[in-house]
Amino acid sequence: MDYKGHFEAAIEALHAEKRYRVFADLERIAGRFPAAVWRHDGTAEEITVWCSNDYLGMGQHPDVIGAMRDTVCAMGSGAGGTRNISGTNHPLVELEHELADLHGKEAALVFTSGFVSNEASISTIARLLPDCLILSDELNHASMIEGVRKSGAKKQIFRHNDLAHLEELLKAAPPERAKLIVFESVYSMDGDVAPIAEICDLAERYGAMTYIDEVHAVGMYGARGGGISERDGVAHRIDVIEGTLAKAFGVLGGYITGSKAVIDAVRSYAPGFIFTTALPPALAAAAVASIRHLKTSQNERDGQQRQAARTKAVFAEACLPVMPSDTHIVPVLVGDPDLCKKASDRLLAEHGIYIQPINYPTVPRGTERLRITPTPLHGDALIDTLRDALVETWNALGIPFAGERPAVPERGENVTPLVVSQAGG
Ligand SMILES: *Cc1c(COP(=O)(O)O)cnc(C)c1O
Repeated sequence: MDYKGHFEAAIEALHAEKRYRVFADLERIAGRFPAAVWRHDGTAEEITVWCSNDYLGMGQHPDVIGAMRDTVCAMGSGAGGTRNISGTNHPLVELEHELADLHGKEAALVFTSGFVSNEASISTIARLLPDCLILSDELNHASMIEGVRKSGAKKQIFRHNDLAHLEELLKAAPPERAKLIVFESVYSMDGDVAPIAEICDLAERYGAMTYIDEVHAVGMYGARGGGISERDGVAHRIDVIEGTLAKAFGVLGGYITGSKAVIDAVRSYAPGFIFTTALPPALAAAAVASIRHLKTSQNERDGQQRQAARTKAVFAEACLPVMPSDTHIVPVLVGDPDLCKKASDRLLAEHGIYIQPINYPTVPRGTERLRITPTPLHGDALIDTLRDALVETWNALGIPFAGERPAVPERGENVTPLVVSQAGG
């Protein structure tokens, strides 16, 4: 058996499809976000990051850094074991209280990442329900798809945000059958938002449980950063709200919140929770500081919305093909994997601007794009510089400007359903 040859062939296939991934060697600079140092070919130069999911710059917030530093000095670096074996570090107890309060739920449970929280929770919830039918949005994140698969439950995929299709599937199932609807609030590649209230209406009408991923919304939407479900006043109607501590909160970890019963069941039955070392106390304390700050401070949220809106307007004026988005996400269409990678390379090498290319299978073929995430710390001058760099790049590579060719394919038409290896952000 030629083992090595098989791995090399797998990599070669990615090169042939122009979707082999390369990660830039970057060093973030605390206090100067979004500036970073890029190292390559023996050199180090300062660049601007335009694709970070540290959406509000909380990764460098003095309260967050201070809590992390103080806690690591007081309690040491690691958690010392799984919670089963070593008990729970106190900062993690506080963190779970903070999260339950954030979403107005009875209880919360923290995992080592958002990915693990989805995989472990969805699989465990669906496994504990007898003959559960899972209804899953077709654009759900890979971590949710893994959870659905691991549950072994029967699943049906509904067209993205399509209430009529979801209702059709719910109606076709026996009324007494257990059903779990899994979906996201903000879909991070297009920046569109789920009709949460209407999904809750359907769930109530057909007796289904609801599970929402608010990873790209927590900290950023709602008066206290409780996400789109808080903004829309529907958090109390959703059974399980999942989120991450790694994006807008700027730290690391994932969580679910819900009723005492469902949280206790996941805590007691999910291998992905039980058999892995807990989040270190310093990370838990830093997350608490970040969540607390964003519960009362509106500055970061306002700044993000303002700079995202300005970025969209400036791009549209320059005829850059900015894709429609209802949120802080600013996708710019390239429409070809090779050009997308080349545009990203050129922006970095010629303009000192870092934007990772987004290619298939993260997005459908033909919709390859640059996904730009303005934060409150991307000032007006940086936005103008970015526009000029994009226009230069579009011209240099012959990428079509807005209006130069037919619009993006209709959603659904060109979507390759549910490739598990999709690696969103
Ligand atoms: C990033 C992401 C996750 C995983 O969260 P991590 O904390 O980064 O593991 C889950 N769901 C969605 C929609 C994501 O984009």
